[in-house]
Amino acid sequence: MLVGSPKEIKNHEYRVGLTPESACELVAHGHQVIIESGAGEGISASDDDYRAQGAEIVDTAAEVFERADMIVKVKEPQAGERAMLREGQILYTYLHLAPDAEQTRDLIKSKAVCIAYETVTDAHGGLPLLKPMSQVAGRMSIQAGASALEKAHGGRGVLLGGVPGVMPGKVVIIGGGVVGFNAAQMAVGLGGHVTIMDRNPEVLERVGTHFENRASTRFSSKANLAEAIAEADLVIGAVLIPGAAAPKLITRDMLKTMSPGAVLVDVAIDQGGCFETSHATTHADPTYVVDGIVHYAVANMPGAVARTSTYALNNVTLPHALRIARLGWKEALRRDPHLAAGLNVWDGHITCAPVAEALDLPH
Ligand code: NAD
Repeated sequence: MLVGSPKEIKNHEYRVGLTPESACELVAHGHQVIIESGAGEGISASDDDYRAQGAEIVDTAAEVFERADMIVKVKEPQAGERAMLREGQILYTYLHLAPDAEQTRDLIKSKAVCIAYETVTDAHGGLPLLKPMSQVAGRMSIQAGASALEKAHGGRGVLLGGVPGVMPGKVVIIGGGVVGFNAAQMAVGLGGHVTIMDRNPEVLERVGTHFENRASTRFSSKANLAEAIAEADLVIGAVLIPGAAAPKLITRDMLKTMSPGAVLVDVAIDQGGCFETSHATTHADPTYVVDGIVHYAVANMPGAVARTSTYALNNVTLPHALRIARLGWKEALRRDPHLAAGLNVWDGHITCAPVAEALDLPH
């Protein structure tokens, strides 16, 4: 199969669909790989790095779209890219169609085979192609929070790990799922005083067993949350209620109980945020202050560490890409119902029920 990756063109997107190492694997399995010149720049992979792994470099995205049987990308195709898709061509990327009627309409019109990373499932009911980005965001949230706690960044001047003779910073992590667990690993590693809060007893048990006495766990009731955040230096919002907007767990009123210069990092901002005072920010201007409390709410945190994120993403997307390339998409999806759950649009109609329902379209 001829597999191609164009350069990502969405604003401030530095990741790329295929790393040189992924190109190497595809080539080793007998496939052809074409990469748009410069596609790997954002992850410090040069055209020569791709050539060295057997990929062919082409000058334009148009050539990738014209020749490739399967396009492997990161972000949803932009309008110009959608116009280049053709009937039967495989598009394998994040799509996030439910809130995007315009993109959905164009993909239906293209009659391409559109497989969305975010709806591929695993045997445990998880979303394995979303997980690495939650791991990245969870780990980054502590870095971002620790930096925001510095005086020059508006914070209260607390070093998370403390020093001998001085108490460490108090970190409260709301939600002990993928983001929360990874945040806790970083915060514990830095020597912070860490509390993980969740409403799911199984999650509390899992993280409690993992961290033992290096972190505390606490049920996330209204009263417990109010008590915990009043003492916190850094609060990480890492909750998710699948398919729903994030619940507003910290109200503006509650900010008054916190220490001035304390920091809120709202990782759940891509689901609307779990703090009442959150609004989405960008890497160029990541924080703002409300009632003396510093807020960090960047909606695409993994974008800042494009190289790590691209490699993490490729680790989970490549095995499916190899299977699709080897078997053809129909047979690959027939053999693997979890991959089949990723099919969102095919032959001019929607094949993913939640997307169709969200957009009030037939499927
Ligand atoms: P997850 O499903 O693994 O974990 C969410 C956890 O929240 C679950 O353990 C659940 O029990 C818990 N929870 C639900 N309601 C709660 C409540 N009221 N109090 C405490 N805990 C509660 O999800 P995840 O992968 O960790 O993702 C968390 C959020 O981070 C999602 O909104 C996700 O989209 C977002 N995210 C954002 C970025 C970013 O760049 N900002 C990147 C990746 C993920």
